[in-house]
Amino acid sequence: MTPCLFCRMIKKEIPSRIVYEDDDALAFEDINPQAPVHMIVVPKKHIDSLSSLTQTDKDLMGSLFLIVNSLAKTRNLTPTGFRTVINTGPDGGQTVHHLHVHLLGGRQMTWPPG
Ligand code: AMP
Ligand code: ZN
Repeated sequence: MTPCLFCRMIKKEIPSRIVYEDDDALAFEDINPQAPVHMIVVPKKHIDSLSSLTQTDKDLMGSLFLIVNSLAKTRNLTPTGFRTVINTGPDGGQTVHHLHVHLLGGRQMTWPPG
């Protein structure tokens, strides 16, 4: 059994509130939302983090951001804006070591992040 939480969610071994799925990616509601809209977009291929990307992941990363674009439109975030976050490694605050994009919206974000 894979110890990776997101791989287990992709295999449906663990339930999630799925908002989008295709052959290469899955998107679901974050279990601990930090904004009125907080979704996670993951590649189905296990990639540890942004630090592990290779040339072969070029198209996949493009697809992930197109999914973010589409979900933002679906949730009516495009007129007001939204934030995308990819936490990488210990200093980046990454807690699940399967590359993922956070899509946050529905409130005013602050800068700098903590
Ligand atoms: P990160 O800290 O960038 O690695 O983000 C991991 C995210 O996964 C956090 O926002 C968590 O709330 C979220 N998360 C952890 N477990 C689950 C789960 N079972 N279902 C949905 N989201 C989860
Ligand atoms: Zn994984």
